[in-house]
Amino acid sequence: MTMDFRFSEREEMLRKFVREFAENEIPPKMESMETNGKFPIELMPFMAQIGITGIITPTQYEGVGLGYVARTIVLEELGRVCAAVPMAMQVHHMACAALADFGNETQKKKYLPRLARGDTMGCVAVTEPGGGSDVAGTKTTADLKGDKYIINGRKCFITNTHTSDFWVVIARTGEGAKGLSAFVVDKNAPGARVGREENKFGMRGANTGELVFNDCEVPRENLLGQEGGGVGVAMKTVSETGRTGMAAVALGILTCAYEEAAKFAQERVLYGKPIATLQAIQFYMAEIFAQLEIARLLCYRASWMKDNNLRFDTESALAKWYTCEAAATAAKRAVEIHGSYGIMKEYTVQRLLRDAMVTIPAGGTGEIGKLVLGRAALAPFKK
Ligand SMILES: Cc1cc2nc3c(=O)[nH]c(=O)nc-3n(C[C@H](O)[C@H](O)[C@H](O)COP(=O)(O)OP(=O)(O)OC[C@H]3O[C@@H](n4cnc5c(N)ncnc54)[C@H](O)[C@@H]3O)c2cc1C
Repeated sequence: MTMDFRFSEREEMLRKFVREFAENEIPPKMESMETNGKFPIELMPFMAQIGITGIITPTQYEGVGLGYVARTIVLEELGRVCAAVPMAMQVHHMACAALADFGNETQKKKYLPRLARGDTMGCVAVTEPGGGSDVAGTKTTADLKGDKYIINGRKCFITNTHTSDFWVVIARTGEGAKGLSAFVVDKNAPGARVGREENKFGMRGANTGELVFNDCEVPRENLLGQEGGGVGVAMKTVSETGRTGMAAVALGILTCAYEEAAKFAQERVLYGKPIATLQAIQFYMAEIFAQLEIARLLCYRASWMKDNNLRFDTESALAKWYTCEAAATAAKRAVEIHGSYGIMKEYTVQRLLRDAMVTIPAGGTGEIGKLVLGRAALAPFKK
């Protein structure tokens, strides 16, 4: 096997393009995102234009079909400027993946171009108030009555609820884990509505909300995949697209923490010299630098494996768990390096710490990540 850790010329161009977009277009929206907690929906046409919304969607459905390494570049670059934007985008991509992987031709033609063009954001609703880690314990029900499913229940902590025209929803059609199914639910379906919008301390600009279903009527043809295949839809989508996506967003935060800490350490003068000359600060920077390098390798390896059709559930769990933890630790160190300035709202590092904490439960908690890793670690020695 040949190993090549370099990005292609096309990937470098993409990074340059997205960096330019992120640095120019996102900062003017940041104050309003922090204050109002709203996603800047007006960015969608620009993001569609440069291929961000359709990055993993095949060209036949109006996407650009560049795959997961390209997607990681995009999410990392957006996350380096403001993590809320790629947080919303990564869940948008989850909806694209669920529809591309499990949709029939009619569903793909109906929904994928709308997502790729950025006409709407994508949304995947698995988590319920009763517990996100226990997918098999899903309580929302979908009963087939004639040619319609009647959905009852509530989803919570869902990204893009209020900015999507349709939602991929997991609901119970039978008993146990094999009794779950996936549906595409139109936001205007009778009996469907959005509930509260959450007031988060981080990722303020990414919409997180509730979905409420009260005898919600969904046409039978909106079943996504097979009846009883809902766990498969949720697991593949979360593991492949959700975990690599959250990891890439956290990688952007980590990159920003490194850059902000290094700049501050060179600028802040104490005892007549920059604090970068203090060994304690150099050690902190060494830790952040190492975390960034490790996280980058893990994130791009997992994405590369996806692009090469290799099984990568362990690698995606590792990339997600490590990078999100590292982003939070590095952001905390970056705040510490800033002294009391780090606590002040004018400084970026305090936002990085808040945003990094949000990446930890989103897409599966650290403990659930470690369950996957623990299984992989022990499997070769199973007696
Ligand atoms: C910003 C944000 C965006 C999100 N977006 C989405 C979305 O778009 N779609 C969606 O479906 N969900 C989304 N979620 C929900 C997220 O996936 C869940 O919050 C997460 O899976 C955890 O579920 P929970 O919060 O109910 O915690 P619980 O499942 O109740 O867990 C509570 C604690 O118990 C631990 N725990 C649970 N099971 C085990 C175990 N077996 N062993 C050890 N420890 C365990 C957990 O790690 C955690 O520490 C989002 C969350 C956030 C914060």
